[in-house]
Amino acid sequence: MEDSYRHRGMRRQLVKTVQAKGIKSQSVLDAIGKIPRHFFFEDSALIEHAYEDKAFPIGSGQTISQPYTVAFQSELLQLKPKDKVLEIGTGSGYQAIVLLELGAEVFSIEYQKALFERTRKFLPRMGYQANFFYGDGSKGLAKHAPYDKIIVTAGAPSVPDALIDQLKVGGCLVIPVGNVRTQQMLRITKTAPDKVRSETYTDFKFVPLLGEDGWRK
Ligand code: SAM
Repeated sequence: MEDSYRHRGMRRQLVKTVQAKGIKSQSVLDAIGKIPRHFFFEDSALIEHAYEDKAFPIGSGQTISQPYTVAFQSELLQLKPKDKVLEIGTGSGYQAIVLLELGAEVFSIEYQKALFERTRKFLPRMGYQANFFYGDGSKGLAKHAPYDKIIVTAGAPSVPDALIDQLKVGGCLVIPVGNVRTQQMLRITKTAPDKVRSETYTDFKFVPLLGEDGWRK
């Protein structure tokens, strides 16, 4: 697939849209401006819409998140280069690439086998390396813990204890929590081994986090 002058122009417009909605981090804006989002659309009928600030279907009943949402969560993470990040909900891999562009070491887990298979093959073809896992991320990924940061890209009914356990002290978890229709974005910082500080942000609408500590299937 080609990344044409026209695509790059639409991408610059998308960066302006996301910035106008309040995203300030230059590195996050640069990542949105660099990544060819139209490469993530399997359905050719949707490619024309790739640079609209909207979520779109990616198969298996799932979506590629809205660029503003990706930017918002990425900014909240306050990533430092080499941060070890766990992403729950690999989906298309778009958010994972934003994290890689921000210098993170990425561990990403996906519940839908077809998406896991597709994305773990697709990202290296785009020139990006991450560590992909198939399974239920509602309990995190204990094998590779602890993490500097954890990002959940599906709506959770509550904050899973396992995710707090798998954070380093000083690290944070960014997670949308609420009901299946709407969720509030939370940033939970682990300030001591048994202490957290929670900050609440605006409402978003995510697909449900499935699995044992999510909305069970
Ligand atoms: N980060 C993705 C992207 O950039 O395309 C967002 C994808 S979508 C909004 C959320 C993803 O979370 C879906 O792919 C869904 O299958 C996945 N998911 C839901 N519950 C999960 C769980 N328990 N463990 C891992 N992934 C899960």
